[in-house]
Amino acid sequence: MKKFLVLLIILILTGCKNSANKENTVENIDDSKEDTIITVEDYKENNINELGNVPIMMYHGIQNLNNDDTSYIGGNIDKDGYQRTKEAFINDLEFYYNSGYRMVRLTDYVDGNIDVEFGKSPIILTFDDGLSNNIKVTGLDESGNIIIDPNSAVGILEDFKKKYPDFNVTATFFVNGGLFEQKEYNDKILRWLVNNGYDIGNHTYSHVNFSNASIDETNKEVGSVYDILDNIIKDKYVNIVALPYGSPYSFEHENINYILNSTYNNKTYTTKSLLRVGWTYDSSPFSKDFNPKFLKRIRAYDNNGKDFDIEMNFNLLLNNRYISDGDVDTIVIKSENKDMLKETYSKKVIEY
Ligand SMILES: [Zn+2]
Repeated sequence: MKKFLVLLIILILTGCKNSANKENTVENIDDSKEDTIITVEDYKENNINELGNVPIMMYHGIQNLNNDDTSYIGGNIDKDGYQRTKEAFINDLEFYYNSGYRMVRLTDYVDGNIDVEFGKSPIILTFDDGLSNNIKVTGLDESGNIIIDPNSAVGILEDFKKKYPDFNVTATFFVNGGLFEQKEYNDKILRWLVNNGYDIGNHTYSHVNFSNASIDETNKEVGSVYDILDNIIKDKYVNIVALPYGSPYSFEHENINYILNSTYNNKTYTTKSLLRVGWTYDSSPFSKDFNPKFLKRIRAYDNNGKDFDIEMNFNLLLNNRYISDGDVDTIVIKSENKDMLKETYSKKVIEY
């Protein structure tokens, strides 16, 4: 029955676009709406695939250096790519945009609300460690607003916001107990970020390795950061933990439950997702493979197209990336992938 309905809808849509009597049949639809009617041919031509994979990029520091200033490959400053040059970061953003990626919030991805225009693919940016070069404040203006160093990550992202409004610039910053390491500005920075389309998540109080932590430590490391955020941006941060060192590596580890449900100062905090370190893209939120509680990330670094660097991952994504139908309320899938669709979803499915 469901299948029949989908087919019917597709036939109706196809019929509308191809009809010779278009003016008569769609009399009451204005021109702008008429242009947005999408057919199966459009899906095929644009390879629409909402069961495709999604890259979550993992950044740490962005330094005001050129790629030539580093002895490591490409835009890395260190071998593992935990610090990236400003020039490389700008190149990354240009590459994502020109490759048809548009940014979505991490929480929207987890919730399956991927609002990306037709034919484009979602990408998610994350930054760990709350480094001051993520958002460097150089002072306050006359109204008391923070002045952001244009060479810090947020300064660069704000430039892209102006340059490509359709890029939907956003990112999630995962902080430790020291927040952004700028004592006099930390509160203002947090408020500015959540008021300007960015998100704040939890990276534990002291960058703990959960594999070696006691239950008490685990509760305290997670809960105390939420407690700090409650005091500054209550109800405006995201209940997501980026696991320091990507540890524990297994979802079966006994501490996982205490990270997901941590008690601190008589308050219990629920965490909806954990972010791992490395190495590759994750699934569509509509896929059977999707575990929103334990998400993979791509390390944003260069290594000659090897060892899951940016180039290698984006080449792999060419084969099976999420490509949007432009409608957040429908899931458009290819018939050959239908077994990949998870059992429960609340959106209309269109199979072609
Ligand atoms: Zn970290």
